[in-house]
Amino acid sequence: MAAGIINPVTGKRYVKSWRFDSLYPFARALYLQMEAHWKVKVWHDQTILRILQTPGEVNDWTVRMAAGDYAELLDILDGDSSWDPFLATPGTIGIIRKAARVDFPMIMASLREDLVADGHFIDQEFSPGQMEAIAATYDRVIYCEGFRGAANPYFPDLGWQLAKGEAMVIRLEHPSAGMLQDMLKKTLLIAPLGDNRFWVGGSYNWTFEDNGATPEEQQYLEERLRAMIGVPYSVEQRMGAVRPTVKDRRPLIGRSPVDPRFYLFNGLGTKGALLAPYWAAHLTDHLLEAKALDPEVDIVRFGN
Ligand SMILES: Cc1cc2nc3c(=O)[nH]c(=O)nc-3n(C[C@H](O)[C@H](O)[C@H](O)COP(=O)(O)OP(=O)(O)OC[C@H]3O[C@@H](n4cnc5c(N)ncnc54)[C@H](O)[C@@H]3O)c2cc1C
Repeated sequence: MAAGIINPVTGKRYVKSWRFDSLYPFARALYLQMEAHWKVKVWHDQTILRILQTPGEVNDWTVRMAAGDYAELLDILDGDSSWDPFLATPGTIGIIRKAARVDFPMIMASLREDLVADGHFIDQEFSPGQMEAIAATYDRVIYCEGFRGAANPYFPDLGWQLAKGEAMVIRLEHPSAGMLQDMLKKTLLIAPLGDNRFWVGGSYNWTFEDNGATPEEQQYLEERLRAMIGVPYSVEQRMGAVRPTVKDRRPLIGRSPVDPRFYLFNGLGTKGALLAPYWAAHLTDHLLEAKALDPEVDIVRFGN
């Protein structure tokens, strides 16, 4: 579902992601280790081209570019872009470097194969009763259940602000679609997946009934998509999922205030690809080497 995109500079104000300078090299190194281990490609360096439509946007971008620690990340395209023949409206194009796409379906398939072969993966829905039985056998149990963690009674009142998102996979039949390597961003992000296929997303909704694709949000996506590109496309797949987002936009890591056998690794929100490697290692250091949890991610910040 998730496109696995790592975008160093996000939002309307073009702000660098929280702790990007520590998280990015850590994530990149881990994903490259996975590539070497499984002999598959999971890390794709893919520049993001940001459409800057209004003079105000160009101005804000240029100001940001001039800030010292943004110089290696941001630029303005001088010349043509490979996306030009596809754009609905020409505009100034900003460049975001150090962006990437992590192939999560590939990671999940490879990891699952290893874990199953080693007898370390049980492919089933765990009930609360089964979790109790597991806790009786193991020293510690870590809950990594995504948005469903918001209803986990062992971790109450954690400032959840779940955000449903929808996305699509489209196909462009344009003769030069296969040449597109960079991602394109405006209100949506379009990421080339290879073979003329593109991930398009995502929407944000804070009230929702389930985690499937809906006609309303899919129409919204298509309207935004047509405002970005002016060439025909076909939709191959429509998807919906819920982001485990927290009000303060920080991970949720730590021990249950209700039962000390249980730990939580969650709250990765919109940025699992960037956050998970560093913070998983952080929790491991905490559990195995008694290193203190970083107060910015420790769930005790919610006062439970
Ligand atoms: C539209 C959309 C686009 C996104 N794009 C990006 C992106 O480009 N880049 C990025 O970094 N992030 C993106 N995200 C966010 C990303 O998906 C999350 O940050 C990430 O998935 C969180 O990982 P997680 O392991 O905590 O939760 P999840 O990925 O939700 O995984 C939790 C797992 O736990 C399982 N589970 C839960 N309860 C049980 C149970 N009782 N028994 C057994 N299994 C259980 C679930 O089935 C699931 O497999 C996007 C999200 C959405 C919705």
